[in-house]
Amino acid sequence: MRLFSGINELELKNWLAGENEPLFRASQLLEWVFQKKSCSFEEMTNLPKALRIKLQENFLFPALTLAKIEDSKDQETIKFLWKLPDGMLVESVLICSGERRTACVSSQVGCNARCAFCASGKEGLKRNLDQGEILEQALHMNRYLQKNGEKLTNVVFMGMGEPLENYDAVIGAIRGLIDPKRFHLSQRRITVSTVGVVEGIEKFKSEGLKVNFVLSLHAPNQHVRKKIIPYARKYPLEDVLDAMQSYSKETGRDITYEYILIAGINDQEEHAKELAKLLSQKQCSVNLIPYNPVEGLKLKRPEPSDIERFRETLCNLGVKTTWRYTKGKDIAAACGQLALKKTF
Ligand code: SF4
Repeated sequence: MRLFSGINELELKNWLAGENEPLFRASQLLEWVFQKKSCSFEEMTNLPKALRIKLQENFLFPALTLAKIEDSKDQETIKFLWKLPDGMLVESVLICSGERRTACVSSQVGCNARCAFCASGKEGLKRNLDQGEILEQALHMNRYLQKNGEKLTNVVFMGMGEPLENYDAVIGAIRGLIDPKRFHLSQRRITVSTVGVVEGIEKFKSEGLKVNFVLSLHAPNQHVRKKIIPYARKYPLEDVLDAMQSYSKETGRDITYEYILIAGINDQEEHAKELAKLLSQKQCSVNLIPYNPVEGLKLKRPEPSDIERFRETLCNLGVKTTWRYTKGKDIAAACGQLALKKTF
């Protein structure tokens, strides 16, 4: 059965026309879902009962059921565990920071990339999410915020999965996020994070979209990158950087390079110098993220003095560097930690 959360106005109109229903019902339906934040056809009381029954027979809505919700101690990070229609589980995280309300959504159940530092890739890929399943994560987080009179301001594709390996569903979800009749978010408030799937980045350039792109770089050279990102064997660093720069040139968006600092692997001063050299002449910034321990992985977070020295070296060499204070560590909602922990 088709998932209602992924459907756009034109598709709705086509369906209504096929059912001999008036086309203005499409606007009413979208208003119920995206303005009134309704999550059931039953609640849509200005629609005739017969139409509500037809909708129920043809579409699945909602598709996600909340299995568990968990707040971090600082109350700024809320982790949601969703049960999908086939019983599989997926997570998303709501991050509240200042005025920002950011939904970090998953695009796959598990992940094929199996990065050494990441909990999501430990078990490999189970399946891609449908675009409705991706959008519905944002929809439910928006409903959650509505209780306090708030709403989502940003969406990042940084949860479970490699977004460019579920390309069509992710593009469909982005179009839903920017659609004025649905989420109506500015493209500047949407960020896609990739480990560096070159053909996906190239294809993305032709979509006419101008969302932000983040590359999980995590190493200053191909040798170190191969050690922690198995996909680096398939996508050499030079090709990945070329593809990112080309996207930046095409869209005018600066690229953010994420760099997880892992003790003894990529956290030394010489790594920082090499990284600065690699990124010199590029319109970009580096986001440093100290590694978050993941159960079952032996990697370690660097000492604070090593983290500071790395950051200072980059700054002194003229690299625009930001530092991500890790939110949600106590509930395993921090970067690289989403993996359906048994305790969740
Ligand atoms: S870091 Fe991203 S690409 Fe790598 S295994 Fe985790 S979810 Fe997949």
